[in-house]
Amino acid sequence: MKVPFLDLKAQYAAIRHEISAGLQEVLDTTSFAGGATVENFEANFALFCQCDHAIGVSSGTTALWMALIGLGIGPGDEVITSPNTFIATAEAISFCGATPVFIDIDEQTHTIDPSLLEDAITPKTKAVIPVHLYGQPADMDPIMDIARDHGLVVIEDACQAHGAEYKGRRAGSIGDAGCFSFYPGKNLGAYGEAGAVVTNNHELAERLRMFRDHGQRQKYHHSIIGWNGRMDGFQGAVLGVKLQYLPAWTEARRENAKLYNELLADEYKVITPFEAEYAKHVYHVYAIRVQGRDAFMEALTEQGISCGIHYPVPLHIQEAFRPLGYEKGSFPVAERCAEEVVSLPMYPELTEEQVGYVVEKIKENLR
Ligand SMILES: *Cc1c(COP(=O)(O)O)cnc(C)c1O
Repeated sequence: MKVPFLDLKAQYAAIRHEISAGLQEVLDTTSFAGGATVENFEANFALFCQCDHAIGVSSGTTALWMALIGLGIGPGDEVITSPNTFIATAEAISFCGATPVFIDIDEQTHTIDPSLLEDAITPKTKAVIPVHLYGQPADMDPIMDIARDHGLVVIEDACQAHGAEYKGRRAGSIGDAGCFSFYPGKNLGAYGEAGAVVTNNHELAERLRMFRDHGQRQKYHHSIIGWNGRMDGFQGAVLGVKLQYLPAWTEARRENAKLYNELLADEYKVITPFEAEYAKHVYHVYAIRVQGRDAFMEALTEQGISCGIHYPVPLHIQEAFRPLGYEKGSFPVAERCAEEVVSLPMYPELTEEQVGYVVEKIKENLR
């Protein structure tokens, strides 16, 4: 049996007629950059996120960068985030001229450990970016409390957490802004590149709408120096169709995670993912921890099971961030996790039979 890491074809097959109709509408109206499909999607995605505003942009990376710029972060500022994330989180900080400052993660949730936050704050600190890694929110209450005490803004990196909840509140709706990616493999994926910023801050929303469109509110009248960060019309159409299915897809992911958890419960060599009491985890990634990860993964690959590593090298020891001056050993929890995590196949269309096969092979390989 072959079990792919992700199966975008299965999902497309189930919705192809609606997708075709949506794309045809864009062709017929020639609204290729922004336009009605994007505006409709923005309105529905804002509702979905329990936020007043959603601003569709060209990628999750753009969303993070624009949110930082829009909140006034720039050269000389420090922004605290997790070393255990996709590089885009920290790239966005560097690319607005600020400096990423990392703090270690909580060993159970793999999100920033709030008890380490206060000590990392300096007079230069302006913002915190908690990352809702794998689809589970960071512990937002203590993070918000500390940030408010120190006058810091909070930008949620919710690029893996569409529809996740923290104490009943949707990911992205808790901080000053929430950033989403619609990269094709994400829980809500476009058929190309796209992202969004959500916020309840009306002024910020206005600024970001101008910023992504060359700083103009009215064509060729530029109020601020902006950028081209628009979402394209085809992506708006695809995302509009797919958003309707997202709640059902999320439940299917959670069912698959539950089945993995149950079947792996008696395998003491595997640490299954932890769902915090405060969280509704949406399992963008189902990551287990095992000793001897590399050999373990190789064996699964040979048996037709595709896995991933999210992420093999923490950001503080990436070559690109060497100038920041961190060393191996700076963040022992993040480094330990990076050596042991394996992401198993996870998507809504994954069958019970496939999950069963993956677990059977895991147990065989660990014997
Ligand atoms: C995917 C992702 C991003 C970047 O999104 P793109 O749409 O690929 O630019 C940022 N942060 C995290 C945590 C991600 O998973």
